[in-house]
Amino acid sequence: MKVSPEILNLVPYKPGKPIAETQREYGLAQVYKLASNENALGPSPKVIAAIKNALDEQHRYPDPSCYELIQKISKVWNLPAKNIGIGNGSNELIDLLIRIYSEPGAGILTSQAAFVAYHVCAQASRVNPYHVPLTSGMKMDVKALVDYFNTHAKESRIQLVFIPNPNNPTGTYLNSEDIRYLLQHLGNREDVLLVFDEAYNEFVRAKDYQPASSFFAQYSNIVILRTFSKVYGMAGLRLGVMVAPEATIDLFNRVRNPFNVNDLAQVAALAAIDDAEYIHASQELVWSGLDFFYQELSRMKLPYIESQANFVLFDTLRDVNKVNEALLRRGIILRPVTNYGFRSHMRMSVGTRVENEAAILALQAVLREVVHLPTN
Ligand SMILES: *Cc1c(COP(=O)(O)O)cnc(C)c1O
Repeated sequence: MKVSPEILNLVPYKPGKPIAETQREYGLAQVYKLASNENALGPSPKVIAAIKNALDEQHRYPDPSCYELIQKISKVWNLPAKNIGIGNGSNELIDLLIRIYSEPGAGILTSQAAFVAYHVCAQASRVNPYHVPLTSGMKMDVKALVDYFNTHAKESRIQLVFIPNPNNPTGTYLNSEDIRYLLQHLGNREDVLLVFDEAYNEFVRAKDYQPASSFFAQYSNIVILRTFSKVYGMAGLRLGVMVAPEATIDLFNRVRNPFNVNDLAQVAALAAIDDAEYIHASQELVWSGLDFFYQELSRMKLPYIESQANFVLFDTLRDVNKVNEALLRRGIILRPVTNYGFRSHMRMSVGTRVENEAAILALQAVLREVVHLPTN
């Protein structure tokens, strides 16, 4: 059988190492995983109740239009229902946007060290991902992005620009001035869609952050992606939201699978979206956890990037594979990010207080064990 090289060269997604596998391999009873940016609170009691209540109906197909959920999102987020589409996680939305707007051999544009899904989904559609370098603070370089687009979009057939804000795995963000710069140069154009991926937007503490939704009414080419995997604690249920021009929603509804979002996910999201108590608890947990990490990383003299998300990227100043191996032996799963081109960095998600403290204790021990890389 003939299979295209882009498909053959795809590397299967490597999730954070599973807890059970780590327990088996290292003979450990207790393993903590802070590797996948999940919500450490566990599901909201309201979500659990809603799911239990819906179990009797699971012999039925789900609502293919997600009608009730779209109405509620529209109300709670104050955005027109006709501009909302629901996906099987935002990952599906990324995948379908690329399939809709990029022919094989065409391109998408994002930044270096941007969320890896853009790259993977592009390659699976035989589309070339183009990246502009980060600024010195590991921030997305909006000027470079605009310059690159204006110079290369035609020849490289780029119609989509992906802007993760805040970004994973760096935790950095674009402020309202950056967003305005992007919109001033690329807004209201018919040859490009600006896709703002705001998976972590509820965790942002920076005062000068402005979500793209506040510009949505004035610009014809903004797409916003949100997810229920992070602050809403529903990563296992798979539900993402797209806010987009009507024409995009219309195309999306043609290409997606009719039952892309299962019934339990819809029911759970309806219960989760205005669960203020749970959202606040999630925010508090993440913010206090990040502050604890900053304090301890500073004590260990490990450089880190201040994060607007629910994880922190830090530099171990050591061979990250050795650090990772030593942490695993102690039952701590963090995420090395060599796949993003970082040789000595790790990403550490905020967990519960107990998990955070265990991770820091293990890290302190491991730093004494693994030699420092030569500085130059
Ligand atoms: C976690 C994450 C998502 C969410 O993906 P889902 O498919 O909705 O679980 C989207 N974008 C970024 C940048 C993320 O880190």
